[in-house]
Amino acid sequence: MYHRFNENKYPSTNIKMDMFDEQMKIIKNQGYEFYDPKNFLNEFDKVKKSKKILITIDDGFKSFYNEAWPYLKKNKIPFILFVSTEPVGKRGYMTWDEIKEINDSDIGYIGHHSHSHEYLIDKTEKEFIKDIETATKIFKDKLGYIPSIFSSSSSACPKAKLENKNTGANKRKIFRTFRSFIHLKIIYIPPCLYIYTYIYTIIK
Ligand SMILES: [Zn+2]
Repeated sequence: MYHRFNENKYPSTNIKMDMFDEQMKIIKNQGYEFYDPKNFLNEFDKVKKSKKILITIDDGFKSFYNEAWPYLKKNKIPFILFVSTEPVGKRGYMTWDEIKEINDSDIGYIGHHSHSHEYLIDKTEKEFIKDIETATKIFKDKLGYIPSIFSSSSSACPKAKLENKNTGANKRKIFRTFRSFIHLKIIYIPPCLYIYTYIYTIIK
């Protein structure tokens, strides 16, 4: 899971492009394939014959568009870009035209990453649902569909806070909240450095 590229003033979420290039080469040279997200939902429960790696990028920062997108396009590496809808078009973030360009490509897929990108577990269930539904409406309006893979926006939290809050009860709250307005199945909870990302698939 990546965030910013060549934005060295944000060391906790940044990767330098030469390091990114090295990581992509290691993946290739070790014989791993890049997982194409368009197969992700259908194949998730199936036993895999080979090891594949899914590249994901959170938030929709402009530095992704300027730095990593040309690289991924040139090397035909598929990925999911998880977009929070509220900051789109603001300073440092991609515009809807840029997001549509990714969406229209063969290798880029758009994921749901809430509206405000706030730590939703701190909200009431009503606020939690409102945030997700706001983003859902905007995605439908801007892209014509609702992205079916969701990544939670918990990255704004310091490590200790997140670890304290990352309890079974809170996971159940997240699950219940989503269940209350859409049919949802948790499919993936990958640990990622100090950040836990919850990826859900919306069963429509
Ligand atoms: Zn994020």
